[in-house]
Formats: sequence, structure tokens, C-alpha cells
Amino acid sequence: MTQQPHQPRPHQPRPDRPTADLLIRAAAVHTLVPGEPPRRAVAVTGDRITALAADPHGLDGLIGPATEVVDAPGATVLPAFDDTHTHLILAGHSVHGVPVHRATELAGFLALLRERAAATPAGDWITTTVNWQELNLAEQRMPTTEELDTATDRHPVLVRRGAYNMVLNSAALRLAGITAATPEPPGGVIERDAEGRLTGRLINKAIELAERVLPRPGLAERIDGLRAASAAYAATGIGTVRDCLVPVEDLDVLRAARAEGALAVRVRALVSGFAVRTPEEVDALLDRVDAWRAAGHEDSELSVWGVKFGIDGGFEAGALEEPYQGQPCYHGRLLWEPKELADAVDRVVGRGLRVGVHAWGDRGLRTLLDVFEEVLARRPGLPAGTLVVEHGGLARAEQRARAVALRIPVTVQHPLLHDGAPTQQRAWGEERTRALFPLREWLDEGAMLAAGSDFPVGPYGAMLSVWGMTTRRTVAGVVGAEHAIERSEAIALHTSAAARLTGESADRGALRPGAFADLTLWPSDPLSCPVEELRGLLPDRTVVGGRTVHRH
Ligand SMILES: [Zn+2]
Repeated sequence: MTQQPHQPRPHQPRPDRPTADLLIRAAAVHTLVPGEPPRRAVAVTGDRITALAADPHGLDGLIGPATEVVDAPGATVLPAFDDTHTHLILAGHSVHGVPVHRATELAGFLALLRERAAATPAGDWITTTVNWQELNLAEQRMPTTEELDTATDRHPVLVRRGAYNMVLNSAALRLAGITAATPEPPGGVIERDAEGRLTGRLINKAIELAERVLPRPGLAERIDGLRAASAAYAATGIGTVRDCLVPVEDLDVLRAARAEGALAVRVRALVSGFAVRTPEEVDALLDRVDAWRAAGHEDSELSVWGVKFGIDGGFEAGALEEPYQGQPCYHGRLLWEPKELADAVDRVVGRGLRVGVHAWGDRGLRTLLDVFEEVLARRPGLPAGTLVVEHGGLARAEQRARAVALRIPVTVQHPLLHDGAPTQQRAWGEERTRALFPLREWLDEGAMLAAGSDFPVGPYGAMLSVWGMTTRRTVAGVVGAEHAIERSEAIALHTSAAARLTGESADRGALRPGAFADLTLWPSDPLSCPVEELRGLLPDRTVVGGRTVHRH
């Protein structure tokens, strides 16, 4: 039997020519491909970009009956942003907590707790968001147990700030079994006032006393938290997060969330190496990571980037060459013997994984570069980008030169300085705080940088970060204006440079045919709008792998 040749009707696409699923016409499509002028139209089929055109109607031939056409003649398209150092897992835990980060003074802080208590069955735990700094409250301090008791005495209340600080009300202290007589665990502080009474504050290892009595969220609750938290990232223009502290057991939580379609952003996980030290412990951790990867759980949405260690503390414990302000005998804390850390890093890279190490103070960074040099000497063929400095906050000229010469990438986070400047000035003084994140120098000297937030210590947000890197604005005013960089540079640190850090330059970071359709649509052009507009600028749409994950 012969078939009549099929005659396509004029407006029906021929079957041999794929139509676009999404076509965007905009004022400018900044592809971020070096040397390429802005385009006016971009087409997406499946999870990939299929075409770009200089004419807004240049891709109209790809329109089929199912094509979603976005006509946005005033809007600007950019690649979706990466947050290259953030904590999605922590965000997922706290996203439904009482939003105390919105309070500007303790009265408002307590009112938020009181409001939640009124809507919570007596006896249930009440917890908070973690992305706030007490120095940014009018009173410049944490609430006390007594104050929390005025918000509710019918619920255990756990106020959490960041990952290592808590304040408990009396009911929570009771449940945790903490009294004035409780001895401090090694590496932890149970704060007491001048009379020896509990203030309710737990620091570092002491938080485990509270964590062990806190009801553990079930899987459904974890997935729900990740759904809300990842959507909140996407709502600011972020399409990929590099989570820098994923407990190894949480890889399965992320996998379950992805399987339910609950992850609005791609996740690159750094498995936490914070609980391991001996070679046996490192190997046991790596065995678990290897087994998870060997089971085929990774894909372009969720993958393991490497392992995370920390060589020193943060605002109040970063390791410095010179003493802390007003504490002539205190230089911060180094958390590893260099030889031990070199052995641990060496074991990780020996399994083909990458390593990111937190370094905050100048002594911390110097010691870390010694460690990395030692590892590179043992493994001369190690590919560039295997060893990464996380933060490198107080990077002096000599250390910058070493990092550049060793071709070691550095992730930087202006939002950390934005929120933490008052805390840092108190601990380090103004000169050293101003010297944090010398981005201008890093870039001029040829460093491989990528940018992020370090949420919950700093706020995340694509353009919030660009605004910060270009203005050096913080809650304490402009800090270190000489280290500011250009907008185009700041955007590159979240896109093309970020994709290089994750080894995905072929697929992400620029808008070119064949790359993943990870893009953002902005109501005004972030490259040319008034700089103050950047601070609150949010995308109309965020697309990840062709899927619209956020729409304004
Ligand atoms: Zn971090």
C-alpha cells in the first residue's frame, strides 16, 4: 500500500522540525558568551536552549501549537544564578520556623514568638528561622530565657541563630535536662550570668544537648522544607545551589525530594567532613559517599560535588596572624593539625572527589594553602579546581598570590560581610573587617573566584549579591569600597565562573544552543538599571532545565 505524500499546512510545523516548548522575546538576552552581543529571542526545547536570535521575531518559525510564547519587550534574560556556597539543608530545616529574621528589636522578636505560640498546641516545640544576627537588633544581643518565657510558658521554645548558637526558654531547658549544675560538654558553652544562672544560651557543641531532645522531623516534613526552601532560592533568580554542609545521611533526603519533584534548584552537595578526623573515619565517610554514588543516584539535578572541611572558625574564631581586638592572647582557632588535614584531603581526592575547605582568618588561609601545597606535591597531576578555598575571607596579598599560582579557586560571599560587619568589627576592628573579601584585587590578580551567600549567615539573592559586591554596602555602611567590582564581573561570578567551579561550563553558566535552559527573566536590565534597584530586584521568572520553577 502506498501513502499519499503529506502536505503540511502553512502554519503547521513540519514534523522534521522541532518546535520550541518556550520562546522568550525580550529587550535583551545577555548570553554571557564572551564577545557576543545581546540577543532578543531565546528558544527552549525540553531541558535545553535550542536557538537564539538577534531579531525578536527571529525564532517565530519554531512556534508550534504547544509553544509557550513570552512576549516581554521590556525585560532582560540572563542565565540563572548559582549560589556557590550556601546551606539549602539548613534552610529546609528552618524555613517554617518563626521568622525572627524580620525583627528589628527584641519586642518584635518576642511578639513573633507569641503569635506563633497562640496558634500552636501547648507542649509542641516552637523553633525559629536561623538567618539573623543579634547585633542587628536594636538591643544588639540575644534574648534571654526569661524574655522567651514571657512569649510562652506553654511551649518549649528553641531560638536558633546560624548553626552553632541557640537560646532556650525554661520549658526547653527542662526538657533538655539542662540546669545550672550541668557541666559544659567539651567544645561547648552553656552560658551563665555573673550570678551563675543560666542565660539559656548554648554555643557550639553544647547545642547537641538541645538537639537530642528536639523531635526529629520525618521524611515528608524534610521534603516539604526543601520544597519551600528551594522555591525561595529560585524566587530570587538562583537555579543551582552548592550546599556546603550536607550530612551524608541527608543525601537520601535530597534524593527523595528530587524524586518528588520538590527541588526547584539543582543541588551540588558538599558532604560534611566536620565529624571525621582519623583516616578510618574519613574512609568510612567516603565509603558511604561512594556507595550512594555507585547506586546511580546522581544526575544533572542532584550530584555530589565533594567533601567539606573547615580549618578555622568564623567571625569570632577565625584564625588570625595578629591577636583579636582587645584580646591580646587570642588569635582565633585552628581546628586541624596541618598534617592531619593534608592526610584527610589526600584521602578524599584519592577517591576522585573534590574538597572545599572553610578558611576565614589570614592565619587560617595561610595554613590551608600550606595544606593544599602539600597535597598537590603528593599528587602532581591533580586537575585544577579539585581543591577549593571556601571564603578565604582575610586574604592578604601574599596568600592571594599563592592561591593564584596554585590555581586554587576561591568562593566568596559578600552577604556574609553584609550581615556580619558589626560582629566582625567588634572582634577584629575596622581595618581587618574592611580587608575582608578583596574581590577587586583577587580578580585583577587572576584568581578563579565564584560567588555565593553562605546563607543562613548572609542573606541569599541573585541581585542582592550583585548589589553588595558592586557597592560594598553592609548593615554597618560601606565597608572597603576599594574592593568593589563591576556589575558584569559580579554577575559572571554567579554564572559562568560558578559553572567552571562545578565543572559544568559546557552545560551551564552561559546561554548557548545545547546548554541547559537555566535562565532568568528580569523586569529591568541588571547590567544597566540604577544600582539601588539591584538590592530588591527579583526575577519575573526562573527556569531550570526548561522547567519554570518560579513565576512572579
Ligand atoms: Zn558556609
